[in-house]
Amino acid sequence: MEKKIIETKELNFINEKLIDELLNQGKNISDSQVEEVLKKARLRKTLDVKDVVTLLNSNTDKQLKEIYKIAGEMKKEIYGDRIVVFAPLYISNYCVNNCVYCGYKRDNKFDRRKLNRVEIQEEVKLLEKMGHKRLALEVGEDPNNCDIDYIIDSIDAIYSTKSDNGAIRRVNINIAATTVENYKKLKDANIGTYILFQETYHKPTYELMHPNSIKSNYEYHLNSFTRAMEAGIDDVGAGVLFGLADWKFEVIALMQHNEYLEKTKGVGFHTISVPRLKKADGMDLNEFPNMIDDETFKKLVAILRIAVPFTGIILSTRESSELRKEVVKYGVSQVSAGSCTGVGGYKEGETKEKAESQQFSVADERTPLEVLKELIDEGYLPSYCTACYRSGRTGDRFMQLAKSGDIQNVCQPNALMTLMEYAMDYGDDELQKKVFGILERELEKIKNIKMKEITRKNLELIKLGQRDFFV
Ligand code: SAM
Repeated sequence: MEKKIIETKELNFINEKLIDELLNQGKNISDSQVEEVLKKARLRKTLDVKDVVTLLNSNTDKQLKEIYKIAGEMKKEIYGDRIVVFAPLYISNYCVNNCVYCGYKRDNKFDRRKLNRVEIQEEVKLLEKMGHKRLALEVGEDPNNCDIDYIIDSIDAIYSTKSDNGAIRRVNINIAATTVENYKKLKDANIGTYILFQETYHKPTYELMHPNSIKSNYEYHLNSFTRAMEAGIDDVGAGVLFGLADWKFEVIALMQHNEYLEKTKGVGFHTISVPRLKKADGMDLNEFPNMIDDETFKKLVAILRIAVPFTGIILSTRESSELRKEVVKYGVSQVSAGSCTGVGGYKEGETKEKAESQQFSVADERTPLEVLKELIDEGYLPSYCTACYRSGRTGDRFMQLAKSGDIQNVCQPNALMTLMEYAMDYGDDELQKKVFGILERELEKIKNIKMKEITRKNLELIKLGQRDFFV
């Protein structure tokens, strides 16, 4: 087994004692204190950790309604109607870890599998046929069966697979915590965002959930983004597996982690994922007392939106279509669609009901076409844009663009042009009609006149068969 080299000082910058104190004080919060924070949020002032604790402890319907309203408005101001769409690609379920909650844990006995280059290309072609342009690459942790060279070769296999007009233009990577040296290899392989979920920031829970394995080292996992950034990766995506520990603790800890990165590296999270624990083989959901219900989940997404306005929020198909429809209003900016969480699952899905061994069960099994239709019906603009990353607008360059508001003149055209590509290549008559129906409305939202005209012209060229315009 590869020996982990600890290259950075393994700091624990999550101040558990302080979070506990803040959460305790927060229990006695008054209505007027909540109102003060809401006022600050209405004025778009940055909230500090104490303010967020206050929102977490708000408990009247009126306060909750106001939180949803502000979160919805903030989302609209920054992200417009755009919702980015992507899919996960699982290529190996070998895993040396024994995470209590995970279907891929080493104690689960099933035929482990990893895809070879040709099999990866087959999966990619199927994903391209669904219209996907952005993937999240997922593997279990196994330094022997799934080493960094295999990952690098897989990324190359993905980027180089093209079918008809299909192409994967951005591959985000969700692989286990690793060394600076390996992060450098990922950087050189042209990855999009490096995604790693802390699972839980609560150290005692973390240790309980990750027994006797490489993943057991809380601090090593916690400092992954610091190492990734030392290797030159500036887009990192955080996440918590909600259901393991107290959700309020996790939200404050996420903020502490984000602030730590901003302070030490000049840029915080590009995205935050909000997976909730789901049923998987070898685990019983009843054994997790910190599971959160739908109402709490909605509140947490809205509070995150207000707390870190410029950080994208990612929602997966772990959640039902009904709930997805709701939380997209309050803050989610990226959704997966048509997902399979089993290795080789897209090919298997062609012939069987489900892939053999899934990491966890999914609740939204709709095709991307169905997801896109609903998004458009709900007033959104689905986007397959990958332009920022391809134009080098990552890390703090992306944040500056987002904070300046100029993002609307860049993201809106790119969203429209990629949606038009989708409509022409993968849409049925119904979808095309819906897309043509929103073009003028969405073009009007591009404030820069020159950019609006360029976009209009490019949309016509896409209809005539040209592809891959971006600004
Ligand atoms: N092996 C990598 C690691 O150690 O970080 C990649 C993680 S895995 C492919 C993606 C994520 O799925 C995990 O980080 C975890 O949060 C989530 N996951 C695992 N079991 C789950 C379950 N039962 N329900 C929901 N999400 C789960």
